[in-house]
Amino acid sequence: MIPRSQILDILRHYNESDIKIGTICSHTALQIFHGARREGIPSVGIILPENKPYYESFNKALPETFIEVENYKEILNENIQKKLISENVLIIPHGSFVEYVGAENILEKFRVPMFGNRLTLFWEGDRRRQRRWLDEAGVSAPKIYERPEDIDKLVIVKLHGAKGGKGYFKASNPREFYEKFDQLRINNVISEINEVFIEEYIAGVRYYPHFFLSLLEKKNIPDLEEGRLELLGIDRRLEVIDEVYRGLPMIIEEYIDYTVTGNTPAVVREKYILELLKIAGRIASSARKLFYPGLIGPFCLETIYNPKRGFTVFEVSARIVAGTNLYPDGSPYSTFYFDEPMSMGRRIAREIKNAVKLNSLSKIVY
Ligand code: ADP
Repeated sequence: MIPRSQILDILRHYNESDIKIGTICSHTALQIFHGARREGIPSVGIILPENKPYYESFNKALPETFIEVENYKEILNENIQKKLISENVLIIPHGSFVEYVGAENILEKFRVPMFGNRLTLFWEGDRRRQRRWLDEAGVSAPKIYERPEDIDKLVIVKLHGAKGGKGYFKASNPREFYEKFDQLRINNVISEINEVFIEEYIAGVRYYPHFFLSLLEKKNIPDLEEGRLELLGIDRRLEVIDEVYRGLPMIIEEYIDYTVTGNTPAVVREKYILELLKIAGRIASSARKLFYPGLIGPFCLETIYNPKRGFTVFEVSARIVAGTNLYPDGSPYSTFYFDEPMSMGRRIAREIKNAVKLNSLSKIVY
């Protein structure tokens, strides 16, 4: 793993009066470029040539420069890394960036300074390790089943490396688990039992709150060790299974599918906001203990609210999530912190601008 000291050495040679924001043109790139523009920071879009005319068509979310690649993994090439470094680019790692380049490659080979703490890639990338983080935070999370034989209630079975819930299935007992597992094995979707992750199925309403943690600002809630926590929006993912009612009276098998297809805005009852802030604060504090300096900037909790159990957190995404695309002009929550429309993309750019002003860029980069 490239040590933080090496990245900070590279950052030390950056010209701070000419910092640029860079990312791959996908996922939340429009929002990131749009936000950078609003904060007056130039941006660089790494793009496949065939996508360029479409990104160019958004005149208010256009990066100042493009770097064309045939394949996103090319950004690991020495010449591209050198170019990004010589242009003083800070990379914003969104979900597709990590997906296309690969967490392992980023940790081992990518020397370009990134906004945030790249150790989160290591901690969130493995479901078991991530669970340790949630347990350390003392937040409620679904029970994990190490052996299918132990299944004693409804579980959701997740496939490793699944893209947005594809191939997930439910089972209520070991027999049902093996029936479905064998079917997937016959279809060559999986081959071994250790390729699945078995987790208690939580009934309830899903909410995906988006947070930003600023280490440049003073602590604003008691649950934090340091920094200011902002709730910048909430979404719900629209998954194929959400349309399952359309199969009535018979449920069509194709609808039992958790693939994310989009997002829809949500707000929670005001008393639940406090709950979400406490949970996020504890997760940020345990991150700080487990992988100092912990979370930096955007992160999202994937939660399910059940009236009897309260919020259960089934996943943390320690970066900008696609659900924030709902709020390029701010959200019903960001308005309680800022007088101007504040998207997550803009918030990132604002943080970088503030860090330059305070001579603290090294605090928010790894
Ligand atoms: P991601 O795609 O972010 O990795 P997951 O793979 O953990 O998220 O989950 C995909 C979807 O499966 C969720 O958005 C949710 O609808 C459903 N899901 C995940 N875990 C649970 C659970 N423990 N109980 C009920 N539904 C769940």
